Amino acid sequence: MSAIRTFSPLHKVSLAVSGLIILAICLASFPTSSALTETPAPAQAIPLAADADEAQDSNISATDKVPVPDHSETRILTRRVQPGDTLIGIFNDSKAPLADLRNIMEADADYLSLDPLVPGTELALTFDTENRFSALTLQLDPARKVIFSRQEDGSFIYEKREQDTSWVSEVLRGTIQGSLYASALRSGLTRAQVLLVDQLLGGRVNFRKDLRAGDEFAVIIGHEMAGKQSTGSTRIEAIALTRGPKTHYAFRFDDGNYYDTNGESVTPAFLRWPTRKHFRVSSRFNHNRIHPITGRPAPHNGVDLATPVGTPVLSTGDGVIRHIGNHPYAGKYIDIDHGGTHTTRYLHLNKILVKKGAQVQRGQQIALSGNTGRSTGPHLHFEFHINGRPVDPMTADIPTATAIPEADIARFNRKLEDQLAVMEYATSRSDLVVAKAPSLFD
Ligand SMILES: [Zn+2]
Repeated sequence: MSAIRTFSPLHKVSLAVSGLIILAICLASFPTSSALTETPAPAQAIPLAADADEAQDSNISATDKVPVPDHSETRILTRRVQPGDTLIGIFNDSKAPLADLRNIMEADADYLSLDPLVPGTELALTFDTENRFSALTLQLDPARKVIFSRQEDGSFIYEKREQDTSWVSEVLRGTIQGSLYASALRSGLTRAQVLLVDQLLGGRVNFRKDLRAGDEFAVIIGHEMAGKQSTGSTRIEAIALTRGPKTHYAFRFDDGNYYDTNGESVTPAFLRWPTRKHFRVSSRFNHNRIHPITGRPAPHNGVDLATPVGTPVLSTGDGVIRHIGNHPYAGKYIDIDHGGTHTTRYLHLNKILVKKGAQVQRGQQIALSGNTGRSTGPHLHFEFHINGRPVDPMTADIPTATAIPEADIARFNRKLEDQLAVMEYATSRSDLVVAKAPSLFD
């Protein structure tokens, strides 16, 4: 304590000032603390002033643009989703009609953005000048929001708005202690990413037999950023695994696939079909489908296969079960994460044979097909997403054993050299070398 008495008045002032600064920083770091402590009671929904963020959105294509109600005199209730919250509870708390929620769930059937309702997600309920519920806004992450807007007939239209994002990279580094799996998890990779590492290098290295304690690996992880905020999306950019004198590599190229140093693909292949037999396609993928009666956009984000109830459904790639749902319109369904770039989705199932978080292999039976949810007859609705966007599973460029096209070889090699340098010289987890050289990554 005697040391404190020796402080000059100047010291005391500067101490007090820095204390105030630290306090201010702490307060500024938790701008949403009131929302976080909010309990599910109607009086605590927090009114917002004007809807001022509309102008910030970019990338709204003409087809995505739908009429949004005039918010000039509207009332908006915002709410951060807490664990245990349900949409029914939130609608009841906000005195919004449950009939509207049903119509919103119907509009969301082709997207499932409300399912599951992830804690921490920011919701906004808009009421028009006549105090009638008119829109639900869901901030999925700092770059993406979904708006369900009421139409004249009482139905709701889905609209997704996305800001431009960029990717910054960090290097995760580790030494093999025990299994590659445990070692890679320790270094900060997700389970789905570890599986992807296993797939990308597994053709060249037998992880069980060949790896020794002390072997080293480096992985460049890309983080998607909206301005200075992370969206939470990550992907593997490059891997190096050194075993004795030999190092094995995989590099992600702009097409989302992975290649070795010679430009030969090492991306794990996917099955084209999620069933053993090839069933008739009863409804094709159509991103631009217009509803024949309403004339509104009604995309079909997958392919419908005419499977009788009870047909074995197979995972089309190695991955981790990300979500199991039971939706009033989509029925029982499964989402699988195949390492970040690729995800698959299987709808209207009769029986689900896997648990959330389980690892599955390509070709593994995960469910029996059915007719659950809003379904006009027994079928399997199957979706394939690349970088978060649905593509036609029947025609998409699914990873197959190919090489970098001639025309791209020079570009691939430049990127490869950059990544090699980063993996060799970056020394710690926090070493965001690549973030300072954005030209290295797309
Ligand atoms: Zn379908």
